[in-house]
Amino acid sequence: MDCIKVSQNLYDYLDGEVGPFRHQAIARHLHACAACSAGYTFEVQVRQTLLEKCRDEPPPGLRARILDALEAAATPPDLDAGSPGPLA
Ligand SMILES: [Zn+2]
Repeated sequence: MDCIKVSQNLYDYLDGEVGPFRHQAIARHLHACAACSAGYTFEVQVRQTLLEKCRDEPPPGLRARILDALEAAATPPDLDAGSPGPLA
């Protein structure tokens, strides 16, 4: 297992989608290679951060503001402005 193969398999390794033989080979390379180990650690931290961010609740009122904006965008601006319209 060399650095290129490790980087090609890194995401599968992180997802636990490599077989036991490949998993062991990657783990051994990561243990021995500082560059790949640093890349692996970085990916783990990115995933950790994403997981934490995704668990966060949206700020209060955000959902209501989005729904209001969608409703405003879907409503024609002169619908109840008292304009005569083409038939008047
Ligand atoms: Zn390496």
